[in-house]
Amino acid sequence: MTETKHGFATRAIHDGQAADPLTGAVNVPIYLTSTYAQEEIGKHKGYEYSRVSNPTRDALEANLASLEGGASAHVFASGMAAITAMVTLLKSGDHVICGENVYGGTPRLFNQVITRYGIEFSYVDTSDLEKVRAAIRPETKLVHIETPTNPLMTLTDIRAVADVCHERGVELAVDNTFMSPYFQRPIELGADIVMHSTTKFLNGHSDGLGGVLVGTKPEHKEAFAFVQKCTGGILSPFECWMVLRGIKTLAVRMKQHDANGRRVAEFLAAHPKVAKVYYPGLATHPQHDLAARQMSGFGALIAFQTGGLEQANAVLKRVKVCTLGESLGGVETLISHPATMTHAAIGAEARANLGITDGLVRISVGIEDVDDILGDLEQALSVL
Ligand SMILES: *Cc1c(COP(=O)(O)O)cnc(C)c1O
Repeated sequence: MTETKHGFATRAIHDGQAADPLTGAVNVPIYLTSTYAQEEIGKHKGYEYSRVSNPTRDALEANLASLEGGASAHVFASGMAAITAMVTLLKSGDHVICGENVYGGTPRLFNQVITRYGIEFSYVDTSDLEKVRAAIRPETKLVHIETPTNPLMTLTDIRAVADVCHERGVELAVDNTFMSPYFQRPIELGADIVMHSTTKFLNGHSDGLGGVLVGTKPEHKEAFAFVQKCTGGILSPFECWMVLRGIKTLAVRMKQHDANGRRVAEFLAAHPKVAKVYYPGLATHPQHDLAARQMSGFGALIAFQTGGLEQANAVLKRVKVCTLGESLGGVETLISHPATMTHAAIGAEARANLGITDGLVRISVGIEDVDDILGDLEQALSVL
């Protein structure tokens, strides 16, 4: 779609974003229009109606396709809207393998909505290649994974799973929300589709929702454009512009998220009251080697054990720089309690199976001065 000869930060700032041909505006204008004047029957400038296409959306889509190294990108009103659009590739009788610890909204959508249309789902520990291989059936069409997972930061070997999928004619979709294309590019490792909640690192400022599907084949481009037009769950021109604006600083933000993330993980690992830290950048992480091979940074997401519900609550009540809240990927440090927040709905049994205990705390390290984040955690943990 766009030339890829420039480096990542250059492409983030320029791809899809040539100066406006009408005025020379350096920034892509927000085309707040539902319709477009046509010169005569069948003659127009390529735009007819904004559910189908919009120049601000086109700019963002070209930019995201370039950053992920895909052939096309299509943006939707949220990450969940993007996943919903992806499953329209399937039909009744098809089977999907999904990572067992993906974003909670994903199995909720699959189990409570999509199974009604005769599509079956199996949940598999995709960090174990043999389990993926064993779960593939003749009717399997798609494997959907997240790596690293939330909150325990378990990795899946993208290239190995892509090879297993392709041997059996199955497509691999990767939710790349946690690393962003700055640190991980699944298409280069063999994935067929990349999905993001742009709500997180891509937009990066906790001020808008969005989702994207990046495809690698002409069929993806056709299918995802068609689903935008048919179902209408598109991202508005204003929010497309917000994501474009966020992406301009993606490279510098991710560098700082990663630098701060490493410092916070090391601090927590050395803290006498913290029993265990989950962060792929620590040499103690069981998949540290895979992390170093498959990602070019370790990111900003860390989970740690405080002991139990009481201890977790005591720490979370005391934080001041860190904000207690769901979500991740914003410039501010967000801290959360998976068992009662993001993973409350899956139930105690499912949490126990995944290893999400009541004492577990998850942190999305922001880009504040790291000493302020460390100082805040130090004073909060001193209650234990
Ligand atoms: C937030 C999130 C989603 C869902 O995206 P929304 O924009 O909230 O709809 C999907 N996957 C992951 C990994 C997420 O973090």
